[in-house]
Amino acid sequence: DILARRTPGFTGADLSNLVNEAALLAARRDKKKIYMQELEEAIERVMAGPERKSHIMNDEEKRLTAYHEGGHTLVGMMLKHADPVHKVTIIPRGRAGGYTLMLPKEDRNYATKSELLDKLKVAMGGRVAEEIVLKEISTGASQDIQQATRMVRGMVMQYGMSDKFGLMALTQSGNEYLDGTPVVNCADTTAADADSEVRTLLQTCYADAISTLRENRGLLDEVALYLLEKETI
Ligand code: ZN
Repeated sequence: DILARRTPGFTGADLSNLVNEAALLAARRDKKKIYMQELEEAIERVMAGPERKSHIMNDEEKRLTAYHEGGHTLVGMMLKHADPVHKVTIIPRGRAGGYTLMLPKEDRNYATKSELLDKLKVAMGGRVAEEIVLKEISTGASQDIQQATRMVRGMVMQYGMSDKFGLMALTQSGNEYLDGTPVVNCADTTAADADSEVRTLLQTCYADAISTLRENRGLLDEVALYLLEKETI
């Protein structure tokens, strides 16, 4: 079940690659069978690259990562429509300094507006934690910011989910036979209005994430300290 939820969109070749990785890990550990532990680790290797040793980070970076990931985790746990947190770690992997993995409870074909808004707040949680605890912000949030912006653009310009534009689609889905990029389909002034609507929505979610973490500051410290000690929850 966890395997299915963690591998949406995997092709047959991806799955075969995944099982090979898991078999190698199991063999390296002198196990006669592949267990869930190897499969989960293989998924992470296939998706994000091999684990790097955490001691390549200095204490300052570790603390930043622990609060950043702790922020995602806590905001996620406090919101009704966010996916449950499956794992959070400050061990670097691939290009990521750490990550928080959330898994949907079931296979879904669509997302509701409440779910998207909660996802946005979770994405903001990392940066917000850096800002309110360390009084400093870092490039560690760059993926979150790109992902959140992409999501809000979709809500405003494609899914008819903003109050300002209602049902009006401002982009048309891209031609899948070309490069699939959505085509902007409105006047320049409308596009500029859409940009400011995107910024407003992002700011609203950011403000919500700030109040969630301020209200739960004690818990945030606990999660971050636990991560610094154990590295993975
Ligand atoms: Zn993050």
